[in-house]
Amino acid sequence: MLKQLVNECVIKLAIRPDGPILVKSGIETVSGPDMAFVRTWRDGEPQVYLPGSSLKGVLRSHAERITRTFNETKACDPFSKKGPTMSCGHRFERRKKREELNNSLVYAQSCPICRLFGSTWYGGRLATADAYAEGRPPGVEQRDGVGIDRFTGGAARGAKFELEVVTSGTFVTILHIRNFELWQLGLVGFLLQDLKDGLIRVGMGKSRGLGKVRGEVRSIRVDFLGPQAPAPGNGTLTLKGIGSLVPSEMADAYGMVHPDEVTVTFSGEWQGGEGHIRHTARFTDEDFPWAALGRRWVDYIQVYERPLEMALERFTGGA
Ligand SMILES: [Zn+2]
Repeated sequence: MLKQLVNECVIKLAIRPDGPILVKSGIETVSGPDMAFVRTWRDGEPQVYLPGSSLKGVLRSHAERITRTFNETKACDPFSKKGPTMSCGHRFERRKKREELNNSLVYAQSCPICRLFGSTWYGGRLATADAYAEGRPPGVEQRDGVGIDRFTGGAARGAKFELEVVTSGTFVTILHIRNFELWQLGLVGFLLQDLKDGLIRVGMGKSRGLGKVRGEVRSIRVDFLGPQAPAPGNGTLTLKGIGSLVPSEMADAYGMVHPDEVTVTFSGEWQGGEGHIRHTARFTDEDFPWAALGRRWVDYIQVYERPLEMALERFTGGA
């Protein structure tokens, strides 16, 4: 993707367990519970935390579900190697044998979910930092006999073993969405709404009642860089997606929406103008124009079409 940064949305997000959660450590322990909560060394002690990669994974899965409500094939299946939902990564792996692939083509021909979250061929726009406990890290509790299969997270009859859960505390993370299109912020808005409503679960044992959390957006910052950066006036601000911040030939090559702008009422804090490289608008969750951006996402996904090659694979069975 572009090396140059033209816009960025930074969201501070707090996540609270709403019951027992277990985000498993990848490292096997010799003694102790069969399934230990993942920890990291912080402030001189091992502390439980929510790894950014886990959070990104659950957000991605939920985004796939939302996208498939519009049409089964609008989002690729990251694990599929054939058919109309073949993963974008696998499709590019095959295409590279017969053609030159560059960044713009890979972005333009990726499904909306890979455009935001990335694939084996493309880093993605959204980054999720590790979520650390605010203040004193919560303690863990031991549970046993829940019967969660240690490998699949599904139910396992007769299996009895110990697991470690966290039931309290507040974990804080930062989401970065760099060089975004407006529809991508709209999709993130729907994900955050579902997180606030407790509809997204994290970690192991979701089918057994584990993993309930509640999200809370603490603050939102949007940065613009470069000569096309907007400025507020008359109580409004025009938010610009990357398609409105780069030359139109480039936006076309990447298959970006352009122009990509929405004018919203703005009474938040602004830093920028003459002599600034970075122009920053600060919002509260309540003030942020989630509804207008959500509209962009819905409009985008309704008209979005799979690239031609994917449509052809439906008829050739992915051969
Ligand atoms: Zn994809």
